Amino acid sequence: MKRLTSNESIAYLGHLKNLLEQSGVGCIIKNEQLSGGLGEIPFLECLPELWVIRDAQLAEAQSLLQELAQSSPSAPAWRCAGCGESNEGQFAACWNCGRADERDT
Ligand SMILES: [Zn+2]
Repeated sequence: MKRLTSNESIAYLGHLKNLLEQSGVGCIIKNEQLSGGLGEIPFLECLPELWVIRDAQLAEAQSLLQELAQSSPSAPAWRCAGCGESNEGQFAACWNCGRADERDT
């Protein structure tokens, strides 16, 4: 088995695991049971990890992850209708005046 990636979010790893398995890459999550704390950052060595069961599929799994990262577009920046300030796409409201993003999404 080969370790593919680790992430503090079990939900995220579970999502990746589903996608990989849909593509025929068997994988498991390790350290799953250790991240139960609310808002608690686990020790680095205890981070949930995603492992590829068959070594031969590691490269395939890595390229799938890469595709995934490229296919999830980050939201475009937007300009606030209230104060004209430009905001990063991930913000739902203006950081400057608090006005909600009025883009059609
Ligand atoms: Zn504003």
